[in-house]
Amino acid sequence: HNHIDHATAEKVQAAIATNDTHTVIPSYENLEKYNKSGGYEVLLRFRESGSWEAVQQQILDSGLRGLGGAGFPSGKKWGFVRGNAGPRYLAVNGDEGEPGTFKDRYYLERTPHLFLEGMLIAAWAIEAQRCFIYMRDEYPAVIEILRREIKALEDKGLVEKGYIDLRRGAGAYICGEESAMIESIEGKRGIPRHRPPFVAAVGIFGQPTLVHNVETLHWVARICREGPEILSSIQKNDRSGLRSYSVSGRVSQPGVYLLPAGSTILDIIEAAGGMAEGHHFKAYQPGGPSSGLLPASMDDIPLDFDTLQPHGTFIGSAAVVVLSDHDKARDAALNMLRFFEDESCGQCTPCRVGCEKAVKLMQAERWNQPLLDELCTAMADASICGLGQAAPNPIRLTMKHFADEI
Ligand code: SF4
Repeated sequence: HNHIDHATAEKVQAAIATNDTHTVIPSYENLEKYNKSGGYEVLLRFRESGSWEAVQQQILDSGLRGLGGAGFPSGKKWGFVRGNAGPRYLAVNGDEGEPGTFKDRYYLERTPHLFLEGMLIAAWAIEAQRCFIYMRDEYPAVIEILRREIKALEDKGLVEKGYIDLRRGAGAYICGEESAMIESIEGKRGIPRHRPPFVAAVGIFGQPTLVHNVETLHWVARICREGPEILSSIQKNDRSGLRSYSVSGRVSQPGVYLLPAGSTILDIIEAAGGMAEGHHFKAYQPGGPSSGLLPASMDDIPLDFDTLQPHGTFIGSAAVVVLSDHDKARDAALNMLRFFEDESCGQCTPCRVGCEKAVKLMQAERWNQPLLDELCTAMADASICGLGQAAPNPIRLTMKHFADEI
């Protein structure tokens, strides 16, 4: 799945030798190739004589949900934004900062135009005056691909010059939180806003804003081109649709695996070539560090939106990390909290101070569980955004499932 062709591998080697890694562009489907397979026909047809409600219905029928991690039904979002008076904007969240997540990069480095056409379809549906793409700077190849292909779209007259505004993030995890991203797009320090109002009503420069993740828009284009059944017809374990799992850790072949949304961790490990040699499955992170760790004994849960809530966690952006008998859950949990301590924007006390205190308490040989529990409650109840609210998950799940280590 993470296959790099021979020519690209040679380019990578040459670039490493000359210390010029920023110029390595993997081979991808450019505008010419995309056009040959019917690319942008759907967009042009919609612009000519499409009904946005009919397109919205297709998106709703497919069951597509926001793949940045929140899982909100994508078609519904269009209705909310469209219900507010313009000018409206579209913002693409390409920050992909959740550790272990690399699916957006995977798609952008291969089929950038599926994403761009999906974005332009969504922009057409909500009559967006402008599109902002907020792309993480750690993906230089992706930024270069987008630069080239946006220019190609402008040259072909598919979009007006300047309609797509490509912005570079600067390495702050919190700028992947949608309201912090909007602050950053506006040129301010990226800190989350209080809600309500929601960005669908008051977003970029106070205007209604549709925020979508990169992969969500990739699927918008595919649904419009191939029909909603490409997602809705896939059923497994009472779940429908597909998920792009970013799989890393102690598996033979880490990579992005597109599997039915009802897949369990065992299906995912199998897709990734099984456990790495000499490793036995012990625990897994189902969806980024905010989701904490589950033990190997809980191996029959479909890893999808909604299915993990009863277990005190969530799928998020489907960043699956597999741990083995060589790893300690307490070390992994401490590492997660260290990450949150680093990345907390510092705006509110429960998160800024809470993460720091949690790291100190988790370094003790024996965890003070009542105190940690109290701290977790304060952080979850009183933090402004998802970072501080979910940071206790790794602590709580480790206390629950790996008590022998703490
Ligand atoms: Fe910032 Fe943390 Fe508060 Fe979110 S919860 S606003 S990251 S300090």
